[in-house]
Amino acid sequence: MDTATPPDLFYNNFLAAGSFSVTILGSSAALPANNRNPTSQLLKADQSYYLIDCGEGTQSQMRRYHVKMQRIKVVFISHLHGDHYFGLLGLLNSMHLLGRQAPITIVCPKMLKEIIELQTLAGGGKLQFTINYEFTDEVKGGDCPSVFEDSKIQVSAFRLKHRIPCCGFIFKQQEKPLTFDAQAGKEYKVPIRQIPAIKAGADFIDENGNRVKNELLTHPSERPRTYAFCTDTLAREETIEHVRNADCLYHETTFVGSETERAKATYHSTTYEAAEIARKAEVGQLIIGHFSARYPDLEVLRREASELFPNTLLAIEGTEIFI
Ligand SMILES: [Zn+2]
Ligand SMILES: [Zn+2]
Repeated sequence: MDTATPPDLFYNNFLAAGSFSVTILGSSAALPANNRNPTSQLLKADQSYYLIDCGEGTQSQMRRYHVKMQRIKVVFISHLHGDHYFGLLGLLNSMHLLGRQAPITIVCPKMLKEIIELQTLAGGGKLQFTINYEFTDEVKGGDCPSVFEDSKIQVSAFRLKHRIPCCGFIFKQQEKPLTFDAQAGKEYKVPIRQIPAIKAGADFIDENGNRVKNELLTHPSERPRTYAFCTDTLAREETIEHVRNADCLYHETTFVGSETERAKATYHSTTYEAAEIARKAEVGQLIIGHFSARYPDLEVLRREASELFPNTLLAIEGTEIFI
């Protein structure tokens, strides 16, 4: 039986806290303008990468901010307006050229599969990795069905109100295992191979047959966090229930507060409307983005949203926000 005291370094690997963050890659509405790019965000759950929307220029942004594109496992596309997916074909092609073999999952409207297949065919080629699709077309009314799940996150989708079908997404971290107490581990001479079982809740039986209770060796796990993504939509009451109590809400704010009529006509939202949703849904933090090209200076948008919801951040490209 291996009862040697494990090296600190190895124990420390078990102690590393799981992180959950979103990096802004694009924050502009419709057009690339004012040095801003169309919508894209990178969600990281520990070492797993997920891309949310992929506007034109996304792969250049990834290079700029040192994002390793091949680590992306899943791409979520909210809707088929070009400013949310025109970067996807280029990204897939670069993944192919750089030798990707690992499959990728795309959660999207069904028509995107046809677009990708036609463009790939027209280029006379075939991607050397598999694309698995999960379609969002069946997401109805007030429903919020699960559209993707792995060991790190569970994702559900809900309808937004836009000129064409558009989905918002709720990204919820999976429950985490207990945290192993390295100091206690050394004290009780816990062999490394038993740590996974202890993190899953087991007691430890030492070499003399004595039982060491699990609570002496672990700390409670961190609360799983939730990130809600709402882009391209009229501000609507239904959204409030879907995003209620999210730790962080991204809500589009294409226009300043006085542009209510323009927002309605184009199926977008204003700063005050987004902040009101954040306030009523009692979320922890609000990120605003999808800024119209008419606002070179974003301070007015931040100020307006903050009047109703103080914990508001601008979606500034290159920033990583820990949730
Ligand atoms: Zn858009
Ligand atoms: Zn749109």
